[in-house]
Amino acid sequence: MNRFYVTTPIYYVNARPHLGHAYSTIIADVLNRFHRMCGRETFFLTGTDEHGDKVVLAAREEGMSPLAYADRISGLFKALWPELDIECDCFIRTTDPAHIKVVKEVLQKIYDSGDIYFSEYEGAYCFGCERFYTERELVDGKCPDHKTVPEVIREANYFFRMSKYQDWLIDYIQADPDFIRPERYKNEVLAFLREPLEDLCISRPKARLQWGITLPFDDGYVTYVWFDALLNYISATGYPDGELFKKFWPSVHHVIAKDILKPHGIYWPIILKAAGIPIYRHLNVHGYWNVDEAKMSKSLGNVVEPLELKKIYGADAFRYFLMREMVFGLDSNFSEAALVQRYNSDLANDLGNLFSRSLTMVHKYFDGVVPEGSAAPESQLDRDIKSEALKTIREYQDALEGFVFHKALMALWQFINQINKYIDVTAPWELFKKESQRNQLQVVLYNIVESLRIIAGLLYPVMPTTARVMGEHLGIASDKYPQTLEDLTIWGKLRPGTQLLKTTTLFPRVDLGGPATRAPREAGAVEGPGGSKPEISKETFETVDLRVAKVLHAESVPRSQKLLRLKVDAGEERTIVAGIAESYQPEDLIGKQVVIVANLKPAKLMGILSTGMMLTAQDKGVCRLVSLDGPAEPGTRLT
Ligand SMILES: [Zn+2]
Repeated sequence: MNRFYVTTPIYYVNARPHLGHAYSTIIADVLNRFHRMCGRETFFLTGTDEHGDKVVLAAREEGMSPLAYADRISGLFKALWPELDIECDCFIRTTDPAHIKVVKEVLQKIYDSGDIYFSEYEGAYCFGCERFYTERELVDGKCPDHKTVPEVIREANYFFRMSKYQDWLIDYIQADPDFIRPERYKNEVLAFLREPLEDLCISRPKARLQWGITLPFDDGYVTYVWFDALLNYISATGYPDGELFKKFWPSVHHVIAKDILKPHGIYWPIILKAAGIPIYRHLNVHGYWNVDEAKMSKSLGNVVEPLELKKIYGADAFRYFLMREMVFGLDSNFSEAALVQRYNSDLANDLGNLFSRSLTMVHKYFDGVVPEGSAAPESQLDRDIKSEALKTIREYQDALEGFVFHKALMALWQFINQINKYIDVTAPWELFKKESQRNQLQVVLYNIVESLRIIAGLLYPVMPTTARVMGEHLGIASDKYPQTLEDLTIWGKLRPGTQLLKTTTLFPRVDLGGPATRAPREAGAVEGPGGSKPEISKETFETVDLRVAKVLHAESVPRSQKLLRLKVDAGEERTIVAGIAESYQPEDLIGKQVVIVANLKPAKLMGILSTGMMLTAQDKGVCRLVSLDGPAEPGTRLT
């Protein structure tokens, strides 16, 4: 197949982006880059899901209209992806007019064919889930997700005849072992289908909900949010007649997390079947990230902010960690300590050291010019490097095509470590000592830098920036970047005579609880008499970015008597950890106007990243916050 279409779930806009969203979207980006490297034409779709009760409720809490609220959260997702080096081809919103048009067309088509009917229904309805539950689905009479007793409501609604397609779907899934993967999720869907499949209520009366797409055949109702959302995968490519749809739909790969298996594994193929649209190619299901062994949730306060991690470790290291750590399909544990561990051992040590010591040697022994690789007869060691390079490329390719990301990286790291060993065994510094071994030294260094070219190429899908930096240092022309998989399989692409750049540190080592938590101290600053500080210029003072901020939320930090964790609006939302718990109760601070240093280097306190510092005065052990004598817009600069 020479085309590849990958989708992420469209993210529901009732919450800010977190680690799970970042993971699904990075997977799609890695695959998109990889398939492009393989010479395939690709299309990468992500976006936001914006209708339904939950958005109305979240918007009401913020005193906003649903659309204004959806604009804001959708904007956060859209702005986050480039920060993580994610390059999608299309960012769809379910409020886009083109999407709404497709939803109406598909509904009308299914309605006309007789698979949507009108009926009165009384049942247990969970407002959190926005759906009816059957007795069988409830746990001790409660919603399994919300642990609340659903309300019994009676309503006339439109229903989608899913039951009619139950046998067809079972046969379809069994006939194509790769349709839903990994296999455990295929089995989960099949297990669900062993019970009779109920018809799906696909409408909500406008008396109860207006924020949705009006049914084309009854304007007293809006469309159930799942029926609306799933259709994004075809509306984004211009279904029914768009070129992109015709080109890419036959090779679509959906990537989802396991919590939305049922809508994607059951509703979606049946909707497609009923509408006469070819069934999607693959559903790829991943597990959850648990943070410190607990499922990530807002109420537990352990939501990982992808952007904060990126600011500390860089997008590449973050992407590497997620791809290397999780076995696709299973749950994984996320901890910053584990990230730092991998960063230091895999990136700073194995990869970073290999790169910098190799370039240093080429500069020391050959003035930075790539030597001739055929200057001396090959040894068995040299031949092993070449065959290992090819084997690595094959394993890497197989693993990525099969969604086994950690194995692709394991194969690559095995090669990296083989090159490290090759350097230790061939000892170029010894060869350099004797003029008679000059030719052999050339061959050894050529093999090392040519291997680095291949390593840089294979890193590209997961770590695009690192791959680019390595490529630049190895003299790869920018129009040859990214290298194709074919370029990588041809040994000898790096031309002897190429001038290499001076070496660089790809990943400076990090120390948890090290530099970031130490109090910043200005070099050479000497205290004046009486505790006063030395004189500074106005320019120096102006380098401090002081801003007005409004406290949105405050809470105490577990296991700390002094620290409070604050969310402030300083023109943008920030987290600040302040040592004021002995003078202020969290609830006294909400709504208060304070002054912060906005450009202070972020620091970690009790594991929380603080991005800014509040100005305070300490007098006889009592802390006073600096404030203004009248209201000012959050984010206003102090001069
Ligand atoms: Zn519920």
